[in-house]
Amino acid sequence: MSSQLVSLVTPAHVPLDLDLPLQRITGIGPRQAQKLEKLGLSTVRDLLFHLPRRYEDTRETVPLRALQPGIVQTAHVRVRNVSSRRSPYKKMVLVEATLEDDGAVATAVWFNQPFLARQLQPGTELMISGKVEMSRTGMTFRSPVFERTGRDQHHVGTLAPIYPETQGITSRFLRTRIEPLLGLATQVPDRLPPSIREAEGLMPIAEALYQVHVPDDLARAARARERIAFEELFLLQVAAERARRRRMSGPGVIVGYDIELARRFVATLPFKLTDGQRVAGHEILTDLAAPGPMNRLLQGDVGSGKTVVAALAALMTHHAGFQTAVMAPTEILARQHHATLDKLLTQHGLPPRLLVGSTSAAARREILAGLAGGHDSLIVGTHALIEDGVVMINLGLVVVDEQHRFGVAQRRRLRQTSGAMPNYLAMTATPIPRSLSNTLYGDVDLSELREMPPGRHPVETRVIPPEARDSAYEFVRAEVRKGRQAFVICPRIEESDKLGARSATAEFERLSTTVFRDLRVELLHGRMPAREKTERMERFVRGDADVLVATSVVEVGVDVPNATIMLIEGAERFGLAQLHQFRGRVGRDQHQSYCLLFEGGIDEEGSQRLAAVAATDSGFELAERDLQLRGPGQLVGLRQHGLPEMLAADLLDVALGRRTKQAALAWLDSDPDLSAWKPLSDAMNAYRAVFDID
Ligand code: ADP
Ligand code: MG
Repeated sequence: MSSQLVSLVTPAHVPLDLDLPLQRITGIGPRQAQKLEKLGLSTVRDLLFHLPRRYEDTRETVPLRALQPGIVQTAHVRVRNVSSRRSPYKKMVLVEATLEDDGAVATAVWFNQPFLARQLQPGTELMISGKVEMSRTGMTFRSPVFERTGRDQHHVGTLAPIYPETQGITSRFLRTRIEPLLGLATQVPDRLPPSIREAEGLMPIAEALYQVHVPDDLARAARARERIAFEELFLLQVAAERARRRRMSGPGVIVGYDIELARRFVATLPFKLTDGQRVAGHEILTDLAAPGPMNRLLQGDVGSGKTVVAALAALMTHHAGFQTAVMAPTEILARQHHATLDKLLTQHGLPPRLLVGSTSAAARREILAGLAGGHDSLIVGTHALIEDGVVMINLGLVVVDEQHRFGVAQRRRLRQTSGAMPNYLAMTATPIPRSLSNTLYGDVDLSELREMPPGRHPVETRVIPPEARDSAYEFVRAEVRKGRQAFVICPRIEESDKLGARSATAEFERLSTTVFRDLRVELLHGRMPAREKTERMERFVRGDADVLVATSVVEVGVDVPNATIMLIEGAERFGLAQLHQFRGRVGRDQHQSYCLLFEGGIDEEGSQRLAAVAATDSGFELAERDLQLRGPGQLVGLRQHGLPEMLAADLLDVALGRRTKQAALAWLDSDPDLSAWKPLSDAMNAYRAVFDID
């Protein structure tokens, strides 16, 4: 693209560069800049990387005499005359134009766009495109799009990009703003090393950006997109592999694999391990004994028995003379883990200690001394564990529950407290589908518990339409009369917006004063002080409340074996994985349990999703299904993970995943510290929050 065009878009005194905010561009006002912001676009660079979703191809033109009714066609015409009139039947303004080319005449008609009459002066030359119909005046374009013909044809008679749009920001607008900026594509650093580009037959980034916005043809557009996708996956693979190599080369804590100890531990359990637990345990103990520090994710549905596996790892670590820290996202969960580990490990000489926000100063001092002195070997807690002052002289294993990825910064804090890098085990009940984990979790090894311990009754799940609400409440009441308890989950804390979602506080008011007036109803939400949350939760756990109305705070981990009902308001507002998590809160004892999904006005997609939850009790299957229904971007929330968003790459593209992985491995073999291609090492900055790469 010529620099001439570039100079057209900004006043001469504004130097154009990739970081320039969009409102500084001529033709983008403050209001438009605000709207662009909604699309995540705030700089020139963002706009260059705002990729089309598809293209509208109107390049093929037809002479007017050859027009056929019933299909979309494009023609190069001259306006002969224009008229506008009010339609007699409906109160509509009709603009009608007579069009001609060298051989014939046709008509075009538009509805309720009176201003068009002024734009279409007789004699104007147009590219016009739209569906043609036969009318009493001959062939007629109905509501066609058009553009004056001139030196540059942008919209009609072209291969025109269709972009993700938002209110007030059309593809037409975007085309005219993006195209003049394409000259700047040459300033975009090409992060793919030239040798890889050449070996893979990929175009330079500047050419790719040009071709993706203003393609010569569709094949070139596809190759341009593939080139951008390649770069995205390649960077991700390089970051993951670099993190892996870095980890494996660092000094790790080596924990010998004592088979006799493992056997003794298993023999004291009141049950037989599942095959999955046995395999996962073996994988973990093998990792612990290997020189590089472990980085493993243990995935398994709620109740699949992850804690036992973690307990075995902690015991082995202790036996080798190292400490273990177990971190949970909430105080409630930390207390539960503490109780469970107490039962499993105290008899083996490894009593767990508990450190949470509400631990008294005196107890905290005592615990810190125990950890620093090395008398205490197993500590369970919340993030209070990584606060200043917690020093573990000999940390060998970190177990983190319900957090796929533990921030690099946090991990470093734990490492700093001891010399070597501790082994790291994450546990989650919201599995990442295999199809995604290869690319997205390239630096993490996976273990899975796919089967449940024997003797569990699957939770019976029903979707409850509005008219069945009353009978569902009757059902809840009947369960409570049998001595059971119920959760009622609401999408929000307070009645706030027009969305009409039920709020926990309002539902609590309503249920406790009307529907369940005679029952003991309790309220729990995330805005309560931690101490109050714990107290209310404990009241429910003790059985001093029948119904607990709550927000998603009960999502993770809470264990109330006597609860048999999980009632979810506005169920369609939650993701599949989250619904499955809620469901996992019941069915934890021998009683048959139920999950009631109350729908609050749903669309086709919503009902498909609820049906999927009702149809399977496997979190692994639901994760795959969620992936199909919502796509990988939604599911994993890259931004949430701290990763750059994928603009072109499909994380499920196995072939491209493999190709980029190979390229990344080969590159790192020859350039392990990324010193040979600066744009590549610069690009790694965006991955530092997630991957431990330096
Ligand atoms: P998770 O953390 O995966 O949700 P837990 O580790 O809390 O699951 O285990 C859930 C319950 O199942 C606990 O009460 C535990 O004692 C029990 N359990 C674990 N493994 C087995 C097994 N192999 N057979 C029977 N019960 C088991
Ligand atoms: Mg658990």
